[in-house]
Amino acid sequence: MKYLSTRGAPERKRFCEILLEGLAPDGGLYLPESYPQVSDATLTRWRTVYHQQGYAELAFEVLSLYIDDIPAADLRALCEKTYTAEVFGTGEIVPLRHLEEGVWLEALSNGPTLAFKDMAMQLLGNLFEYELARRGEELNILGATSGDTGSAAEYAMRGKKGVRVFMTSPHGRMSAFQQAQMFSLQDANIYNIAVKGVFDDCQDMVKAVSNDLAFKRQYRIGTVNSINWARLLAQVVYYFAGYIQATQANSQKVSFTVPSGNFGNVCAGHVARMMGLPIDKLVVATNENDVLDEFFRTGVYRVRGSADTHETSSPSMDISKASNFERFVFDLLGRDGARTADLFGAQLAKNGRFDLSADPAFAQCASRYGFVSGKSTHANRLDTIRATWQHYGVMIDTHTADGLKVAREHLTAGVPMLVLETALPIKFAETIVQALGREPERPAKFEGIEALPKRVQVMEVDVAAIKALIARECAHSA
Ligand SMILES: *Cc1c(COP(=O)(O)O)cnc(C)c1O
Repeated sequence: MKYLSTRGAPERKRFCEILLEGLAPDGGLYLPESYPQVSDATLTRWRTVYHQQGYAELAFEVLSLYIDDIPAADLRALCEKTYTAEVFGTGEIVPLRHLEEGVWLEALSNGPTLAFKDMAMQLLGNLFEYELARRGEELNILGATSGDTGSAAEYAMRGKKGVRVFMTSPHGRMSAFQQAQMFSLQDANIYNIAVKGVFDDCQDMVKAVSNDLAFKRQYRIGTVNSINWARLLAQVVYYFAGYIQATQANSQKVSFTVPSGNFGNVCAGHVARMMGLPIDKLVVATNENDVLDEFFRTGVYRVRGSADTHETSSPSMDISKASNFERFVFDLLGRDGARTADLFGAQLAKNGRFDLSADPAFAQCASRYGFVSGKSTHANRLDTIRATWQHYGVMIDTHTADGLKVAREHLTAGVPMLVLETALPIKFAETIVQALGREPERPAKFEGIEALPKRVQVMEVDVAAIKALIARECAHSA
């Protein structure tokens, strides 16, 4: 299996070459040259694999189709080490819960940080450790977070050999729970940096360091953002696992609704569908930051400015542009790299938007690729959380509430709708209290974490200071 860039550069790479990379050198995103096709017989075999051998073995089957530069025994061992009941709370890893006529919740948020990003990040941590050891290299992951991504990255990389994580976050602006989750980690390779500024200051510091190419090379600075192909690939597995749990025969179809921000999660659904998984619809659910809903309704993709990007009660979906969306558009346009480069390079830079409404391809979003969309407001999410609690005794978080609200607008009789549960309510306790007048239940392992000792250093908005920290720590543990 070889990988290409969505912007048409001729080079082809193998999985382990792109594993530690972000963007392709031409600015595009990596995709496989073609999508492996899963036959009816294979899908039937995978049912047995999942039911009898479990999620890790299913993950191995799916990943094997895309990774041919890690020996099979090693890849299987990495999957088995990653997807355990101990780490993900249940043997099924992604259990389905029936909610109401035709609607199920697929739980993706029982990992260490209680959000779906653990599903991929936990595997990424093990893949990084494996590949870095094989190369005899080290990697310093530098990131900025306002919550979910940073903690998922830290919990995936803690204690991993060859990896250090330097994670900046805005000082005093994360919830007490989020701060406790990250800052209570005592692992020597995890560095929490609370920056005296806002999230954008953190991001600017990270960009400034990455733009210093000499520094970046010398200290092997990397990232773990959602455009990483390995993260997306790991997510493909739970579309298969959800399908297998919801159906008895391959003649049945299901639909998925996906609370979306950067389009990483639902793009994995697109990949599963392209492999032949019988998916009817892929429902893209957004919050007030409706870049994606606007595109699927109108054909216009318009990047928002910061004044136009709203802080909502589903903060992990608060995006101004959807960084993985380019992958789908590349497929939609018949994999025309030159056109994709023009739209996402030249046109977005010049106009901040592009318009496919007059292109015949646009109609195929729904007809050929199954994509439809919807959005929720804060009031919708509160209503949905309240009604779900009152009718079913099930407490859902604000992101899952967004998904459930939109899912109900796209039901088809006889086609199970699987709503992806992307976080647990405890992460967004304030909104739960607003909706229900009570605190969300807290998993036992998080009892009292706010009282644990914190490992964090406070820093000014100072690029030189963070560079000095990285240099010092690399020298120190070299
Ligand atoms: C990251 C995240 C999302 C959005 O996922 P994308 O892959 O960016 O579309 C939704 N819900 C939660 C809880 C998240 O952490």
